[in-house]
This record gives sequence, structure tokens and C-alpha cells, in this order.
Amino acid sequence: MSVQNKKTALLSTSLRMICTDYDGTLAEPENVPIAESFFQRLQSWRQHAQVSWVINTGRTFESLQEDLIRRKVPIWPNWVVSLEREVWLLRDRRGVGWYEWNHRCELLHAQLFESVGPLWKLIEDYIVHHTKAQLVEDAGSPLGIIASCEEEADEISAYMTPLLENWPTLIAVRNSIYFRFSHKFYHKGACLEAIANGLGILPLQIFVAGDHLNDLPMLERRYARHIGCPANAVDEVKKQVRAQGGYVASANVAEGTVEALDRLCPIPKPAI
Ligand SMILES: [Mg+2]
Repeated sequence: MSVQNKKTALLSTSLRMICTDYDGTLAEPENVPIAESFFQRLQSWRQHAQVSWVINTGRTFESLQEDLIRRKVPIWPNWVVSLEREVWLLRDRRGVGWYEWNHRCELLHAQLFESVGPLWKLIEDYIVHHTKAQLVEDAGSPLGIIASCEEEADEISAYMTPLLENWPTLIAVRNSIYFRFSHKFYHKGACLEAIANGLGILPLQIFVAGDHLNDLPMLERRYARHIGCPANAVDEVKKQVRAQGGYVASANVAEGTVEALDRLCPIPKPAI
């Protein structure tokens, strides 16, 4: 093995970051504790390397915080990405917003949402007159939509896609039957990259896992070289994970995420 290959092999074993989606990737829909094996693996890894854990979610920071308390998680993440775009560093279970990132993000979204005014009315009219979906308030978007089922969410998506072409920086972020709107520069992948850059962590040193459509932007090798998903992930996610050379687990939710982590980033054996 050449010196360069040895260096690469050495680096590939030095995991520095575990970035997970939350709902469906770690947390079950029912209010039950997150599988203990996830925290055991995190602790085991930390005996070998300084590994940061990032939860990258579409929830608001407060909603995630409440859920972590409710499920009595034994270890809290080091970083949280909320609403797929805000970045928080955690200290003593409290979030310290990354001011520079979050402020720029907020400003850009305010400008974008104002500039696309006529679009909201078109979408609202379509939802009210042609679907059974609900229009709801959304913390990060002027408009939130909850479709009545996955099939209807597909139809809403198909309706909005050509409309959104008129506003090239605006995207509809879909998570199952839920939609919100966002600036295309801000998504789970961009936030993961920003945190990793800030910590000097390379994609080669990052494991990432997700289960739904809003995770697709971070399930890419340019952000993380080790990509996994649990068995309950939607087909589009499984397809992308395979295409990116990742691992689709046979177990569901957190156990599936741990299975992918073990397969892609096995814990180094102690030197004899
Ligand atoms: Mg999810």
C-alpha cells in the first residue's frame, strides 16, 4: 500500500461526525425511547475519537428539545439543525444559535418570501379548491401544507413543480405529507457542510443517515462519505443511498441507523 493510500485508509477510520435525521431515523412515531444501541455506539466511538453528533431535522428547535426530554435521551447532540436550515450549538442542553449563519438565512428567506408574493395565492387557491389538504401556519415558511395522504402529496408536488420554475431560488421542501418553502441554498446538506467546515471535519469523516425526502440533500457523498438509511426509508431515499455507494439497513429506525453505522464505520479494534 502506498503512503497516500495508507493515509487515506487511516483517515477513513477516523469518524468525526455522526449526522442523523430525527423522526423515522432515530425516533419512532410512537412515544417510546430511542433504541439504546444508538447511544451505546456513540459512546463506544467516543472512546476512539472525538465524534460530534448532529441532529438534522425539519422540526423547530423547541419541538426537538421537548421530544428529547419526553423520550429521556441519555446523551444530547452537540449540534442541531432545525427547520432544515437553522444551526444551533448545544451547551448544557440549551441551544446557542449560530448567529452569523442564522441571521443571513433569515434575511435571505424574508427577501425571497416577499418577492414571490403572487405565488402564495395560486397555491392557496389550488389547495382549497382541488385538494383535501390543509393550509397551516409553519414556523419557517409563509405557507405550510399538510396533504391528506401520500398520493395527494404527490399530486400537490406535481402541481407546484412547474410553478416553482418561475422562482429559481425557491424550493418546496417535502417530508412525507408535509410541505414548507425554503431558499434553495439552505437545506440539510448545506447546514451539515457548514458545521463540518467550522469544525475542520472532512466528508470522509462523516456518517449521515436519513429516511425521507427532506433528507435527500444531505445524503450525498460531497457532504458525507458514509451514507446509510434504515429499512423504513422511502424508496427515493433507498435509491439515492445505493447510488451514492451507501448502505440500506434491514432494521427499522434507530436500529437500522446503527446497523448502517456498524457496516460503514466499524469501531476500530484495539491495537494489540
Ligand atoms: Mg425523518
